[in-house]
Amino acid sequence: MSTISDNLGSVRENIRKACEKAGRDPGEVTLIAVSKTNPAAAVIDAVENGDQLVFGENKVQELCEKIDEVAAALPEAQIRWHMIGHLQRNKVKYLMGRVELIHSVDSLRLAEEIDKESAKAGVITPILLEVNMAEEESKFGLKAEEVEPLLMQLSSFKHIQVKGLMTIAPYVSDPEENRPVFRAMRELFIDMNAKNMDNISMNILSMGMTGDYQVAVEEGATMVRVGTGIFGARNYSV
Ligand SMILES: *Cc1c(COP(=O)(O)O)cnc(C)c1O
Repeated sequence: MSTISDNLGSVRENIRKACEKAGRDPGEVTLIAVSKTNPAAAVIDAVENGDQLVFGENKVQELCEKIDEVAAALPEAQIRWHMIGHLQRNKVKYLMGRVELIHSVDSLRLAEEIDKESAKAGVITPILLEVNMAEEESKFGLKAEEVEPLLMQLSSFKHIQVKGLMTIAPYVSDPEENRPVFRAMRELFIDMNAKNMDNISMNILSMGMTGDYQVAVEEGATMVRVGTGIFGARNYSV
């Protein structure tokens, strides 16, 4: 056991309770352990003591280094890595074939670059579109009304596969304040699913972080991204 495995247990229990409250099956919700700023040793601890196999990172270089370090220590572990942070086009090539999902696609140009590099690498890259549902100035992401037109454009792309939507909700002291944001995301997700566009599936709704993941699960999240709730407070000074 370890602090990290204890925390993972608590987060999973909270997800289970939120599912119970909402009448959902906990098997529908994937917990992504956000390991950014934490060392590879913390990931290894989560794998070995907490049976956690899905991890999220928000910077390409840190992600690639951690993938290599963890793989060297645990060559047998079937770990899946997710890119959850803002992605610059010139970094896309480093991710090809290395991540299970890119959560943060917010423009046609970025999607084009992922498609192009995926074709070169001979892979199909699963992606989510990031939506700035609360329209915060400081945040990346599409406006809700930009989602459908972009999906229509991406429908013809051969080397990306759109799997759903992601949002980063506002930083709030009371998670209930984000319930309308999560609900609006779920409505958009259902609307987009109903359009039945070619090559577009709406199976993944990535929303909820340490402060608000229970509310996000109650409102339909299928992936939650939890960092500090598992690994403790981040230290940005090192
Ligand atoms: C850091 C981060 C998280 C996790 O944040 P916590 O509040 O530590 O749980 C989730 N999603 C994204 C996109 C992040 O960058």
